[in-house]
Amino acid sequence: MKHQAIVVLLLTLGWLQPSVPSKPAQEPAKVNYSTEIFHAVVEGLYDDGVSNKTLDLILRKEEGGMYTHFVRGCPTCTYVLEAMRHYRARPPFVSFKMATDTWGPGLSKGLRERLANKEMKVRLDALHTLVSRWMDKRMDRLRLNKTERADWAHEMERRSKKGMAMLGNKQDRAQAELWGDLSCPSCEGAVAGATGN
Ligand SMILES: [Zn+2]
Repeated sequence: MKHQAIVVLLLTLGWLQPSVPSKPAQEPAKVNYSTEIFHAVVEGLYDDGVSNKTLDLILRKEEGGMYTHFVRGCPTCTYVLEAMRHYRARPPFVSFKMATDTWGPGLSKGLRERLANKEMKVRLDALHTLVSRWMDKRMDRLRLNKTERADWAHEMERRSKKGMAMLGNKQDRAQAELWGDLSCPSCEGAVAGATGN
């Protein structure tokens, strides 16, 4: 009884901490791959300093308003496209003497020419190059370990399969006709960036 009274007194005074069960080992934070794709592309656009003129080559639309180079409903394309649209709407920086709205020097002449090519396949190849490079760079920046890299690659492959299934969906006739047997550059670029192939 006396002992109990002392414990209660110490607890009240805050000198003794009631014992709490130790926490289980922390689960690694869940990766939101959708926003990771978004960030990879925004970072890439700023790092490369892609001009609006060049970006508009990628963001071209068909007559009905469909984006030419993105697969409707694709879980990779959606976030690549949104990143580009958001970058396109960026305001200019107001803190510097030089009037500018991005960081890098712009895309190389070769890439700009490929994006302006009249052949869709050539333009898609250029977009593939960009998405692959930007994904790879994002993953490097995050200093992912081997297991995390494998998880990313696995997820990008899963998304790519979904995206390609959307392309194969003949119910979306406009899309199926436009793409023919071409494959999605954002999906395959993300896989290439994540797997290092
Ligand atoms: Zn896609």
